[in-house]
Order: sequence, then C-alpha cells, then structure tokens
Amino acid sequence: MADAILANVEERADLLIAETGRPRDLAMFELAHLAAGYLNYYGTLRIEPELIVEDDTRRVELHRKPLGVVAAIVPWNAPVFIACNKIAPALAAGNTIVVKTAPSTPLTTLRLGEIISGIVPAGVINILSGGNDAGAALVSHPDIAKVTFTGSTETGRKIMAACAPTLKRVTLELGGNDAAIVLPDAKVEEVAAPIFAFSFFNSGQVCAVIKRLYVHDSLYDAMCDALAAMAKGSKLASGREADAQFGPVQNKAQFEKVCGFVEQAKRDGKVIVGGEIEDGPGYFVPLTIVRDVAEGHAIVDEEPFGPVLPIIRYSDIDDVVERANASPFALGGSVWGSDVEAATKVASRLESGSVWVNQHCALDPAVPFPANKQSGFGVEGGLEGLYPYLALQTVNIAKPAAA
Ligand code: NAD
Repeated sequence: MADAILANVEERADLLIAETGRPRDLAMFELAHLAAGYLNYYGTLRIEPELIVEDDTRRVELHRKPLGVVAAIVPWNAPVFIACNKIAPALAAGNTIVVKTAPSTPLTTLRLGEIISGIVPAGVINILSGGNDAGAALVSHPDIAKVTFTGSTETGRKIMAACAPTLKRVTLELGGNDAAIVLPDAKVEEVAAPIFAFSFFNSGQVCAVIKRLYVHDSLYDAMCDALAAMAKGSKLASGREADAQFGPVQNKAQFEKVCGFVEQAKRDGKVIVGGEIEDGPGYFVPLTIVRDVAEGHAIVDEEPFGPVLPIIRYSDIDDVVERANASPFALGGSVWGSDVEAATKVASRLESGSVWVNQHCALDPAVPFPANKQSGFGVEGGLEGLYPYLALQTVNIAKPAAA
C-alpha cells in the first residue's frame, strides 16, 4: 500500500492540495512521510504468542488475536495520514476495517481506496464518505468490535457513549492544547524558528502543535518580536501557488470558529501580527500572534485549531509547570532551553502523553503517541499502538502428571 501511494505521489498530492489548500511540501509530507511511513512500519511488525510460565505442571502462553471489524472515524486536518495510521495497525493485527472520512475531506482518502483495491482483498479495507450521521450509525452498529476515532473531544464523548451498549473497544485521539515552555537559558535566535514552525504547521490545524507558548520574563519581548517578524515575512496563499508557505483553514465551519478566536484575541490581549481577516475567496486567516494575555481567556484555555498563537509570560518554573498542567487536555508539550538535562527534568513534570525537548510534534511511527486526560486514551503509534487492535487470550495447558 505504501508503494502504491508513493508510485504516483505527485498526482495524489495535487488532489490533497485541492482538497485542503495546503502547500505542496506539506501535502507531500503527509503522503510520502507520514502515510507511507506508518504503513511501512506496521508492515514489519509480527505478533507471536509469548510464553509466560512453564514448569512441570503447566505451560501458559499469552496470545493476541484480531478483534473483528474495526470502525475508523477520521477528521479533516490530515485525512490520508490519519486513515493510514488506523488502517496499518488494524490490518497488521489481522482485523478488517471500515474508514469513514470527514465530511469535508473525502477525496484523497477515497482515491486511496481506488489505488489499493487491486492490492487488498475485497472487504478488508472499506472507505466510506458520509456525514456525522454515517459515523454515528457505524459506531453504534453491533457488528463493529472496535472503534478508533480521531477528532474533537466533544465527538469523542458521544462515540464513547455509543460504544457502551455493546462494550466496544475504543481508542480516542482527541483535542489538544499543547503548552511549550521557553526556559530562561534558551537562546531566542536558536529556538524562535523551530517554535514558529511547530506553532503554525499546517496553519495550526494539527492536534499537537504549540497552542500556548509560555516564555520566561527575561526573554519575553525578544521572543514576541522574533516570532512576529517571522510571521510578517511568511507567505499565506493557496497551495496551488508554488511559493505558498501557509494555506487556508480547510472548511467554512472551522474558518468561522478561528475568526471568533481572532476577534477574542484582539479584545483579551495585544495582537502583534495578523488579526485582520480580509474579504475574498478562500478561508484565509493570517498568522496571528497575541501577547500580554493569560489564562482565563478562550485564546489560552481552548484549542483554536487554526493559526492563532498566544504568548504568555511567566517568571517561576514551578508556577509555569502548574499552569501548563492546569488544562483538561494533555496531548503534547515541550520545553526549550540550552541545558538539555534541566529542560528534560522540567518536561518530565508535564502531564501530556508526549513531551518533547527543543522540538515539538516530532512524530515517528515507531514511537507511541499517547493521549492523556481529556485528550483521549488508547494509544496509537509504535508497538503499543498495535495492542489496542488485539484481544488477549491466555492458553493454559496442564501437563500430564509424572509417572
Ligand atoms: P469532529 O469531532 O467534528 O469530526 C471528526 C469525525 O467524526 C468526522 O468524520 C465526523 O463526521 C465524525 N463524527 C461527528 N459526529 C459523530 C458522531 N456522533 N458519531 C460518529 N462520528 C461522528 O472533529 P474535526 O473538526 O473533524 O477535527 C478537529 C479535531 O480533531 C480537533 O479537536 C483536533 O485536536 C482533533 N484531532 C486530534 C488528533 C489526535 O491525534 N489526538 C489528530 C487530529 C485532530
């Protein structure tokens, strides 16, 4: 399947650009690096029975068996990658799968279904387009053994409730409000560029990009100025334009939501770049940075899922760790500093499923991507991400008594 995606990847990227508006390098990254990379990784994993106990009286083995039919419900922000990140472990575990695409991004994933239809036996991978009602019908169907969902926390709650009557297994990868903490020993000239990149990646439409940037008092003004300069110098345009660096928000409902956050940011803090949404075709929101803002405002406490970044001042490490952890979300988090050991110690105090040091949202198929608190549960990625697609069975065999 990975080879099939890569075989004509430019054509698939054209479709993904048309569907999402994102720049070509991002479309290629999603298809060639993420989707194909995760398929290749899970293709290498093998599940063998494990011997747990063996003595004169018994032999006990632990087996892992497929669950049956998996329902995968995916969002619009990375439609092909997220589908493949569910198809790959589901199949590696021996299940079949029905994927429901997000209502506003069916095309590239349906095209994937066409491409792989000659590779995978009929019925093993099924890709459906449909609205929220199609998702609801799928997750409540009694023949589904497991639901794997990526999307908003609000929908995650509904899905969990819909899984209850037949006690379906469920994996929920939900919203995030990732904090990044810049320590006083960080060098602004070194960390500003990666912080900028990991805040506005895919115009902020990623579950685990930086959504709250905490900067120490001593660096606050310098960091705000550096990030604002980068935002001013970047090109917002349709992904069809060769020099586009940041694309539009993918759909109208999300555009309206992000515009609401921009308006609130103007009221609650000082917008130092962006903030003005021009009339015209396309759901373009300029990269917007707001400073002198703190908790208690939606722009800090909630997930905009768009290109709006609040920069928050702090002066005490214990205090900032507490503030970073005060969110009901706990998906990712990062700490930035020159003393890597000290930064790692601070990172280990965060409650999020992933913590990164001097980087953010570093995805790797071999590395689990856990979600804590209301960001979900049931890990994806790595070998850990295969286990939720398998039922455990112990096989306990008595040995004949010695003569
Ligand atoms: P959403 O919850 O609105 O929709 C996601 C999917 O769920 C869509 O396919 C939709 O049709 C379907 N759906 C809606 N109601 C349903 C129901 N009652 N039963 C079954 N299916 C239903 O989310 P979205 O706006 O598409 O995606 C954005 C959200 O996804 C953000 O909150 C983001 O943080 C989150 N996200 C999380 C991760 C992660 O790995 N944790 C990754 C990407 C996105």
